[in-house]
Amino acid sequence: MIKTKILLLAVFVCLFCAANLYAQSEEKFDFYTRGEYRPQVPRPQSILRYDVGDFHTTYAQMEKVIEAIAKAAPDRVKIYDIGLTNEYRMQHIVAISSPENMARLDEIKANNQRLVDSRATNPAQAAQISQNQPVISWMAYTIHGNESASFETMMQVVYQLAASDQLETQAILQNNVVLIITGENPDGHERFATWYNSVATGNADRNALEHREPWSIWGRYNHFRFDLNRDNIAATQVETKNLQKAFFEWNPQIVVDHHGQPSQFFFPPAALPINPNLPQPQTNRWMEIFGRANARSFDANRWDYYVRDIFDLFYPGYWDSYPSLNGAIGMTYETDGGGFKGLNWTRDDGTIVTFRSAIAKHFVASMTTLETAAKNRADRLKDYYDFRRTGIDEVRTEKIKRIVIDPSRDWVKTADLIEILQRARIEVRWSPNFTQTSAHDYADGKNSTAAKSKTFTGGAYIVDLAQPQKRLAKAILEPDTPQDAAFVRDQMAKFRRNELRGKLQSKEEYAFYDITAWNLPLAFGVDAYWSENAATIPNANLIDENFLAQLRAQKIRFTRAEIAYIIPYSQDAAAIAAIRLLKANFRVSVATRTLNALGTNFPSGTFVIRVGRNQPTIHQAIENLAQELGLTVFAVNTGFQDAGDTGIGGENVVALQNPKIAMIADEAVSQTSYGSLWWTLDRYKIEFTPLTINSIRGGALKNYTVLIAPDGAAGRYSSALGAGGITTLKTWINGGGTLITMRGSSVFAALKDVGLTSSKLVGSDDDEDLDKKPKENDVDKRQEAESQPSPSPTPAPNRNRQAEPEASPTPEPRTDKQDWQSPMLPPIASPSANAGKVPEPIPGAIMRATVDRTNYLTYGIETETLPVLLASGYFFRPSKEGTNALVFEAQPKQLLTVAGFVWEGNTEKLLRGTAYLIDEPTGSGHVILFAEEPFFRGIFRSTTRPFFNSILFNGSF
Ligand SMILES: [Zn+2]
Repeated sequence: MIKTKILLLAVFVCLFCAANLYAQSEEKFDFYTRGEYRPQVPRPQSILRYDVGDFHTTYAQMEKVIEAIAKAAPDRVKIYDIGLTNEYRMQHIVAISSPENMARLDEIKANNQRLVDSRATNPAQAAQISQNQPVISWMAYTIHGNESASFETMMQVVYQLAASDQLETQAILQNNVVLIITGENPDGHERFATWYNSVATGNADRNALEHREPWSIWGRYNHFRFDLNRDNIAATQVETKNLQKAFFEWNPQIVVDHHGQPSQFFFPPAALPINPNLPQPQTNRWMEIFGRANARSFDANRWDYYVRDIFDLFYPGYWDSYPSLNGAIGMTYETDGGGFKGLNWTRDDGTIVTFRSAIAKHFVASMTTLETAAKNRADRLKDYYDFRRTGIDEVRTEKIKRIVIDPSRDWVKTADLIEILQRARIEVRWSPNFTQTSAHDYADGKNSTAAKSKTFTGGAYIVDLAQPQKRLAKAILEPDTPQDAAFVRDQMAKFRRNELRGKLQSKEEYAFYDITAWNLPLAFGVDAYWSENAATIPNANLIDENFLAQLRAQKIRFTRAEIAYIIPYSQDAAAIAAIRLLKANFRVSVATRTLNALGTNFPSGTFVIRVGRNQPTIHQAIENLAQELGLTVFAVNTGFQDAGDTGIGGENVVALQNPKIAMIADEAVSQTSYGSLWWTLDRYKIEFTPLTINSIRGGALKNYTVLIAPDGAAGRYSSALGAGGITTLKTWINGGGTLITMRGSSVFAALKDVGLTSSKLVGSDDDEDLDKKPKENDVDKRQEAESQPSPSPTPAPNRNRQAEPEASPTPEPRTDKQDWQSPMLPPIASPSANAGKVPEPIPGAIMRATVDRTNYLTYGIETETLPVLLASGYFFRPSKEGTNALVFEAQPKQLLTVAGFVWEGNTEKLLRGTAYLIDEPTGSGHVILFAEEPFFRGIFRSTTRPFFNSILFNGSF
């Protein structure tokens, strides 16, 4: 009776608090059973004023918590500031260890540093160091800002380690230096937490508003909408730079990246494929040790989990694979609640997963991991040392021993690449002039060609793989990373079975998690070679941190001109300078023929700035740009050319227009695509205006000459614009506007009822090359599948990375590790009659495009071919009415695939004779179609010049 009364009272009270009502469906986890606790250390709740999992903590509140704890426990805790985010939040590392370890932190760091170079420390010395050395455990939280359970967990872990006198916790502190990364993505977290707190009712209904994060919030990404868990390869984002700097200062042996939120908790062992540069069986052995320990803890709590599924270890840019390639054991943990699931979420069996329970699971996994690290301390340190030692050894038996990177294609862009390597502590040499024998050209890719001797008279960078960072260097630089043969066979078998399935039958899902090619030289569009021959080059010296600055000082050329400035288009910076000058209302021209000046021929595409046509401030403006962008500028003091018909005053030196740039920023648009364009324009200080589709329909385009449509779902572009919006767009283009589309937005342009191009999508309903036309419009279906949120936001059981809750209206047509908003391109619903006629989407490979060098879109490209990323099944027939500036040859002498995985019997065959870059003149304007994003993740930059050309030159020809 009394019990009933209490229960009734509880229910009554909880009517005012929906969260707790649902939370009663499971036992409330107690975070404070691992004491005794030191009373002077404040619990997070005493500062936050709410219980664990009742509310989302903002970044500033969290800072108050860790500061209060650090202040109360100075013997164990020290906070390091490691750098600002784009939105001026400070990123922190909280170092926690025993008082004895804290008193000698610098010594521990220095000893640890000695374990990374086996050339300076022999195994006996390493063993000696390891005896009295704790492991460094890097516990990172909230890289995806909307995976909110990890953020709250972090404060509980900090408190536990700072306050508890429990024996097990003491053992952790004695054997670990724990580095808590308090927020890998503070800006994304803040967007999500503030939004969620402001709308949430704690409702478990999957359709509730709080489970549908708006486009402009989407806290997974950082400020520039980059996925920070893909960014380690090129470290484009400030958060990645902050973290990498700290990472290489501490050299941790254990790394855990805390995420959310699949159906059940995930911890390693990881799924296949595993990057072949990781040493086996060591990598698997450590994943087993930690995995089994976590399993014991979870079994004891009767919590569900899975291992060896979905979350792979192949792409080297994740925060598990990248640390692993540095000798740590890098692990991804995924808890099952919080984030889009909010405070409460109904599972597929009707039970409720709460925010608090998701925090509890991460908390237990964090503590178990640190206990396991403590128990295996000596063994882990030994393996960490051996990782680099054996890495150096294995070069002897491997083919690729040296990589040479040639800066002649663009020295600034190459310097950016070298800076990435320096940041990753990869040793790079420079020789001003040398010959490399048996050099294999990266551009040949999968086509085996004979090695040649190659002389670098202008100097080149040399990466010898026999160095401590061998495994990481090879993983991000090798021309192609081989896939496991059995894994590929398995995927090919699925592909063949899928081809036979009817259009209404669901297809088997492939296990690729991410792109399969990323090597930095090809991604950047920089020339590179590898060699079996690593014989010493006498004048090759290790470059230090000042080298690039010194090179820059040498390379920048500026002298004041009397008549004109010439900016040769031999670096991306030339186009950027031209746009910047135009936008500052200076007058810039381009030579459309070979230009002769200073006794030299400059190819068409060379920029000319005439002194007499500009204000006197032009001199300073150009000098400033030269300094900022690393520009080579020539001064011309006479208009009379020595040869040819075109000098700086020639008829074929044509004036360029000041581009007024807008970009679509709206729900049809892929956030990461928009983000990569935003970041690129921002880093070059090129101003643009983000516009919603509603504004465009309402006539906002009249103030602009260029409209960039980032990748997005074609069907959504179409429905958001509507017939009226499409007409508005066409009228604007006819009147002289330039529309730039890429990938999904190019598919939109090619849709029959949109008709912005004469190109057709290969395998689509209106593709004439498809013999037997299906009755229904397959392309539309395919688009639909990508673009429309499923009617119910119900994740399918198990493989639910494909069936995200559709909180985001912007599913991205690419598989994305733990990206619940990004289903992989669904297999095209083609009837089996069309088997072999419809391109199967590829996860992401580097392909060889052939350059039409007579077109203004390819100004600045002086090679016959260009490596480009392709990560879809969108292949475009050549335009019949426009120009096809980059194409895939119809009868190539070599494979079109340079690096990465493609579908045998499908990709190469169907890609032949298609176009990558199309200029479709329309009235007085242009539609420019790219088959893929030009700046994918900020890593791929080989199409930088075509992209800027499409902004620069339209309206002029
Ligand atoms: Zn995540």
